[in-house]
Amino acid sequence: MTAKLISGAEIAAQIREEIKQEVLQLKMKHSLTPGLATVLLGSDPGSLSYISGKEKTAKELGFYSARIDLPESTSQKDLLAIIDKLNKDPKIHGILIQEPLPKHINTAEVNYAIEPKKDVDVFNPVNVGRLMIGDADLLPCTPAGIQQMLIRSGVQIDGAEVVVVGRSNIVGKPIANMLMQKDKGANATVTLCHTHTKDIASHTRRADILIVAAGRPKAVTADMIKEGAVVIDVGVNQIGTSKSGKRILVGDVDFENVKEKASMITPVPGGVGPMTITMLMLNTLKAAKIAAGLIE
Ligand code: NAP
Repeated sequence: MTAKLISGAEIAAQIREEIKQEVLQLKMKHSLTPGLATVLLGSDPGSLSYISGKEKTAKELGFYSARIDLPESTSQKDLLAIIDKLNKDPKIHGILIQEPLPKHINTAEVNYAIEPKKDVDVFNPVNVGRLMIGDADLLPCTPAGIQQMLIRSGVQIDGAEVVVVGRSNIVGKPIANMLMQKDKGANATVTLCHTHTKDIASHTRRADILIVAAGRPKAVTADMIKEGAVVIDVGVNQIGTSKSGKRILVGDVDFENVKEKASMITPVPGGVGPMTITMLMLNTLKAAKIAAGLIE
């Protein structure tokens, strides 16, 4: 069996088109333009590329986009003052502070400082707590992207055995949490594995849906999966550079062999990656609608 590809690029394009149409309607009917502020400290090439992508997508979708570039030496106090200003700015519905932040910045304090209603990355512990109790307005971007890929590919999540490999705060823990909620697109039985899990393969082989976010190339091989499983590969690992200078990227799953056993699989690149920015835009749209009283 060769698995069907779940194309994050295609699903993301579809959701972006839906957002674009909704933004047009909001502008016409309610004079409302969703606004996203993106803040970058320093000039790390990776962070620059990520933040430019977010700014570009926001503009393409018809959002108001405010880009704030700050020197790497910006103090904690000054950054918190900028966040406070954005928290109070009615044109801004979403605030994104590009991480990782320089070492002298207290990231936890920054995450707390972002107004929860504008916390489109869902890093503020208030929103993380709301996610835990099944009361979230905004969903963390990469996990929300994974959930949308499953739903829009017609994967049965309700009652499924889901195994997540990796327990980071941005992927593993929140996706495990979301899929176990008593809710639509959830109701799964979830197992979370990490480096202290004994005999990982005994867990992954039970999975109807296997989600891998370990940051290790080929951490999951074909002998570790069940015939017909749905495999979501979140990993992005650079294993080299091509002659033309392009980064060679692979996921955490041994794609070539696993695809012969899985029923569906996400590629890397072109899988989960394109969904993450799209979910950030969806959060900003939702935050704008909540701020305008259009939804509760
Ligand atoms: P992270 O913070 O480095 O966490 C990795 C997790 O995987 C840890 O919990 C670690 O366990 C676990 N782990 C590592 N090797 C393992 C192994 N061999 N077996 C079982 N568990 C293992 O990673 P992250 O931020 O979640 O990112 C994971 C990957 O996803 C990275 O490649 C990252 O680039 C990618 N990513 C992609 C997107 C996207 O939009 N496509 C977004 C976010 C992340 P311990 O806790 O025990 O150390």
